[in-house]
Amino acid sequence: MILRCSSLPLYATCPAAAQPTTLPFKSGGDAADLGSAVHDVVVKRIIGQRGPDDLADAADRYGVEIEELSRLVYLSWRRWEEMAEFFPSPKTVDLNDDPWRFVDKPAGVELTGHPDIYSLCGNEVRLLDLKTGRLDTSAEQQLRGYAFLAVHRFEVDAVYACALHSRQGIVEGWRWDTADLLQWWTELKKEIKFAAYNPGRQCCYCPRATVCPAHSRLVQFSIASLTEGIPSLPEDPQKRGRILAEVLDRAKLVESACQMAREAVRAEVAAAGGRLETDDGRELVLSQRTKTEIDFGLGEEILRQAVGDLSECVKVSKTEVEKAVKAKAPRGAKMQAAEKLIAQLGEAGALRETVYDVLDIKRKVEKDGRKQLAKKGD
Ligand code: SF4
Repeated sequence: MILRCSSLPLYATCPAAAQPTTLPFKSGGDAADLGSAVHDVVVKRIIGQRGPDDLADAADRYGVEIEELSRLVYLSWRRWEEMAEFFPSPKTVDLNDDPWRFVDKPAGVELTGHPDIYSLCGNEVRLLDLKTGRLDTSAEQQLRGYAFLAVHRFEVDAVYACALHSRQGIVEGWRWDTADLLQWWTELKKEIKFAAYNPGRQCCYCPRATVCPAHSRLVQFSIASLTEGIPSLPEDPQKRGRILAEVLDRAKLVESACQMAREAVRAEVAAAGGRLETDDGRELVLSQRTKTEIDFGLGEEILRQAVGDLSECVKVSKTEVEKAVKAKAPRGAKMQAAEKLIAQLGEAGALRETVYDVLDIKRKVEKDGRKQLAKKGD
C-alpha cells in the first residue's frame, strides 16, 4: 500500500480512505493548478533559480491567471522573508534524483512525499511547506509524514516543520524528535490496517467516495436532515454556530454527491457515444453548445456605427487591463504601473465596486511557527 504524505490529513480523519482504489485520484482542479504554479515560482526563487519571466512562464504552463499567480507569489514571498533566517542554505527535492520514500516491508506500506523546502541545521532538519489554499484542513499530519521521511533520510534527532499559509499570513509550526515520529508511524499503521470508516465533510475530497458505503449512508442522512430545514437553535452563540456549521457541511456534502453523480452519468453517456436511450421513452444526450463573443478590437467600428455610445454594452475587465499594462511595463515596474493606472481610474470615478457576501467555514489557527522557532534562540 502506498501512502502519500499529502493524503495523510485525509487518512488521519478516516483511515478507510487509505485503502487501495483503482478510481482516479481527484484533483483539486483550478485551485490545484494555481497552487502548483505558485509553488513552482516561489520554490525556484527561494533556492536562487529564478527565471527571467518566471511568472509568465508558470502562468502559461499551468493555465492560470497571471494576476492571481502574481498576487499569491508576492504574499508567499513576504511570508518566506519572515522565515528565511531559520532556513540556511535552503534546498528543494529533485524528484529525478532521489525521491523521499520509506518502505516498511513487514507492514507492506510505503510512505512517499517531500516538503517544498528543507534545510539542515546540525542535528535538526527544518522543513517548510507553502500552502496557498483556504485554511480548512490542518497540515500537521502531512508535515509529520515529511518529518518522518526526513529523520530516516538525514539521520537527525529532531525536525522542525512549518506550514506557511500565504493567503492568511499565518505560519503553523511543530517540532518533533525521532521518538515522537516513530510512535506516530506505529499508530498510523495500526489505524490504517484497521481501516475504520469515519465519514464526514472530508468525503467530498476522497477518491473512494463513489464506492464507499459509509459515505453513501452519510449522504442519505444529510438529505433527510436538510429536508427538515434548520433545527431550533440554542441561545449560546457558539452552540448556534456549531449547529449552523453542521447544516452547511451537510449541504456541501449533498452538493458534492450530486456533482459526483452527474460526472458518473456524463462519463457513461460519453462512453456510449454521446447518446443513450432509456426504456421509458427518453434519451440521454451529450451535446455541445456554442457561446458567441464579440472581439471588441475587430468589431469596434461596426459597433459604434450601429449603437453609438457603447458604454452600456461594454464591460472592461480590471484583471485583463492590469495584465495588459504589466505586459507593456519594464521588468521591476510592472506592479507599480498597474497600481498607478488603477489609482488614475479611481480618481476619475471610473471604478465601480460591488460588495457581496461569501459564506464559508474557516478553521481557527492560533499558532505562530516563527515565534516557536525564535523562542528556541536559533
Ligand atoms: S468516502 Fe468518506 S467515509 Fe468513505 S473512505 Fe472516504 S473519507 Fe472515509
